[in-house]
Amino acid sequence: QAKGRGRNAYRFFSQEMTGEGADQLRLESMLRRSIDNDEIFLNYQPQVDIETGQLIGVEALARWKHPELGLVPPVRFIPLAEESGFINQLGKWVLRESCRQMVRWQEAGLYVPKIAVNLSVRQFERGSIVAIVSSILDETGLEPQRLQLEVTESVIMNTGDAFAFINDLNAIGVGLAIDDFGTGYSSLAYLKQLPVQTLKIDRSFIKDISTDPNDEAIAIAIIQLGKSLNLSVIAEGVETAEQVAFLLRHGCNLAQGYFYSRPAAQQDLFERWKPHSR
Ligand code: C2E
Ligand code: MG
Ligand code: MG
Ligand code: MG
Repeated sequence: QAKGRGRNAYRFFSQEMTGEGADQLRLESMLRRSIDNDEIFLNYQPQVDIETGQLIGVEALARWKHPELGLVPPVRFIPLAEESGFINQLGKWVLRESCRQMVRWQEAGLYVPKIAVNLSVRQFERGSIVAIVSSILDETGLEPQRLQLEVTESVIMNTGDAFAFINDLNAIGVGLAIDDFGTGYSSLAYLKQLPVQTLKIDRSFIKDISTDPNDEAIAIAIIQLGKSLNLSVIAEGVETAEQVAFLLRHGCNLAQGYFYSRPAAQQDLFERWKPHSR
């Protein structure tokens, strides 16, 4: 019966629900208020040139701190935001805050070359992603080349108009990286058709790189693929000196991971990483 009366009726009846479903709904309604309540903030994780030790960019990672729940991890709230559609609001907030932070750093004499921002599939569905990105760039004054959008292979393969959107984003000058590369769709044909600059080797392949021959083979293959297609390749989840040595040995000189730095709050980031002023 409740179903027949649509979403609101469903919601009404679901207040009686207990267990996991009810928890999800409560969490979802808390999440909906998170931006207005100033509970969302960003952490930034350095991306590093292994050979020179220089900061080449940072990835912006969303954080949600609820007054009662404490820190809710992204693996928990991002899927929920995607299901509920809140990701569009959240994604816009993340984009704007990322661009603003880049400008604030620059005003403080800290030049961060590039910021990477994750996009979810739902942000492509509305068709306004290009308009949103370009208006935020206009509003904040960040140069488009200093923004890199990260999308996964599944976003590219499962979004009808992804190619068109990505081409439009490229046309306004923003960069594009394929996140978690190697975990998604197996056809590589799309790579040569897309204006992509960067492949991010998924951290599942980096994790056991020195002990698992299969992971080692996959990582090497991705590095080679990137070279052949003239793309930058960055390794995710780099935690040890052995992994760094492996990457260098195989010609991958960009990395992101706990070995260099955990994601950190804006004010803590540059205790270790001193970007050049420009
Ligand atoms: P991702 O985009 O692949 O981000 C990298 C994740 O790996 C981050 O997890 C980061 O903290 C973690 N990581 C980095 N280095 C290491 C390492 O050395 N070891 C280990 N074990 N982990 C490492 P985080 O921040 O929990 O984010 C998880 C995922 O949530 C992200 O994966 C991304 O898919 C999603 N996410 C985070 N922020 C946003 C956002 O603003 N928008 C969207 N759409 N998704 C986001
Ligand atoms: Mg990412
Ligand atoms: Mg990733
Ligand atoms: Mg990942």
